[in-house]
Amino acid sequence: MAELRRCAAASLEQYRAGQVLFEVGDRDFKFFVVKAGEVEILDSSGESPKTIAVHRPGQFTGDVAHLTGSPSLVSAVARADCEVYGISPAGLRDVLNNCPELGNIILQAFIARRQLLRESGSFTGVRVIGSRYSRDTFRIRDFLARNLVLFTWLDLESDPEVDRLLRRFGVSESDTPVVVWCERLLRNPSNRELAETLGIRRPPKQTVYDLAVVGGGPAGLAAAVYGASEGLTTVVLERTAPGGQASGTMLIENYLGFPTAKSGSELVERAVLQARKFGAELSVPAPVTGLTFENAYSLLRLETGETVVAKCVLIATGAEYRRLLAEGCERFEGCGVYYAATVTEGQVCQGEDVVVVGGGNSAGQAAVFLAKRARKVFLLILGGDLYKDMSAYLARRIEQTPNIEVLYHTTVLRMEGYKHLATVTIVNSRTGEERTLTTPALFSFIGASPRTDWLPPEIERDAKQFVRTGAAVAGSPHWNAQRQPFLLETSRPGVFAAGDVRSGSVKRFTSAVGEGAMAVQFVHEHLKGM
Ligand SMILES: Cc1cc2nc3c(=O)[nH]c(=O)nc-3n(C[C@H](O)[C@H](O)[C@H](O)COP(=O)(O)OP(=O)(O)OC[C@H]3O[C@@H](n4cnc5c(N)ncnc54)[C@H](O)[C@@H]3O)c2cc1C
Repeated sequence: MAELRRCAAASLEQYRAGQVLFEVGDRDFKFFVVKAGEVEILDSSGESPKTIAVHRPGQFTGDVAHLTGSPSLVSAVARADCEVYGISPAGLRDVLNNCPELGNIILQAFIARRQLLRESGSFTGVRVIGSRYSRDTFRIRDFLARNLVLFTWLDLESDPEVDRLLRRFGVSESDTPVVVWCERLLRNPSNRELAETLGIRRPPKQTVYDLAVVGGGPAGLAAAVYGASEGLTTVVLERTAPGGQASGTMLIENYLGFPTAKSGSELVERAVLQARKFGAELSVPAPVTGLTFENAYSLLRLETGETVVAKCVLIATGAEYRRLLAEGCERFEGCGVYYAATVTEGQVCQGEDVVVVGGGNSAGQAAVFLAKRARKVFLLILGGDLYKDMSAYLARRIEQTPNIEVLYHTTVLRMEGYKHLATVTIVNSRTGEERTLTTPALFSFIGASPRTDWLPPEIERDAKQFVRTGAAVAGSPHWNAQRQPFLLETSRPGVFAAGDVRSGSVKRFTSAVGEGAMAVQFVHEHLKGM
């Protein structure tokens, strides 16, 4: 405790038995260390309050919400008269940054607590009631999962609790999907409404940032960690959820230093905490729709109409998988056609036959992950060699998985169903033979396109619309500085690009992280000359 008090101002506070220290839904609540007595942590998001933990003298409250700035998931109540040291959120950040040993213990406890809640199977959190066949139910579940919100999904089609709960909340099936949290009920909320109600959206400030990062994938998050830790005022503007493509993958096996593969979402959760710990701001959902320039400053326009002003911008908007040119594909997106294979998508595959399209590593990983849940996985590839575009270890694993069938020279012709995907008709390009597969899910991982349609002409792109940087823009008519462009600098001084969005980049997690970190070095160089 002495070390804690050396790092941050702590106030000694007294609470009577039954008094509340903080409640579910509270934001910017204090971090408490128990001096005497007991503090009970309660899950009050379900039908009746459940005890999660009891903290005794020497123990402390709190979890990752302190760092993410999101509201508390639990309530804390004095179980007996107690004395606690209370530390403000800013004070806690000082402890994490200035007392490394103590900070590590606290941070590890926060991460472990969130993990325990997630894996407990009994924590209710936000409740989503909706049908597995509804596109909006999928959108909401996907948004919550990617933003690391703990939630319970009650499937209208199979959950015996649904009727009773709908009656209790005074809504009918036609109102679904509905989201219930802290006595609030939302009918089919938009992602933004959800983010605002759950307190996960923080609007960007009216200030001039040193660095505005567009895109919160691995490249953007790495830039946020390095930028903020090196003293730059840094904001990350992310369209849907931090993590980018990495949060759409179950396991990353080739990330340096993690021989026992890590899930994309776990790496992302840690990266977000790291960025927040150093003081980077993260605004989600914050789709950027335009970039203009005023003197030496960049102005980013958000879909909401808000504007963010920055001295330097990092374009880290990555790439997104292309839509299949098959009849019906667009119609079934979110209700049968998916571009990621995580637990959220996996829930519709239990015991079913599913289709994965693509010959690269992303398709391979998806097939292996889905094979654990599905009855059978059909992997469709255009060519005749599984090893051509896929890492050998993954191709071997596919060959060794009995319930994956690789269909070579095969493509999708059409998709059919009523409200949800029901059948996929495929064709063999060699023989012309057609076959119809009965399936509720098709996972598409064919070539990716960069997300650069929001950029102005001053930012040069290659023929496939990836952003050009470094030597490739040295002679650009848009380049208006005396010096040569830095390695990751675009055709506009002070605007950089990193990760999958950059022309010529290696499309890998590690390289995106490396480029994001490297870009910060060039940001410093540019700021020196401003
Ligand atoms: C299924 C799958 C499995 C993979 N497995 C591996 C693996 O095992 N190993 C490996 O090394 N790599 C793997 N990859 C590749 C790796 O994930 C990518 O190379 C990496 O995510 C690229 O990072 P990025 O930050 O450049 O872009 P992205 O990850 O694409 O992130 C870009 C972010 O920008 C946001 N964004 C886009 N437009 C806007 C806008 N206008 N405004 C605000 N935000 C915006 C997006 O929402 C997204 O979050 C895999 C990819 C997939 C899809």
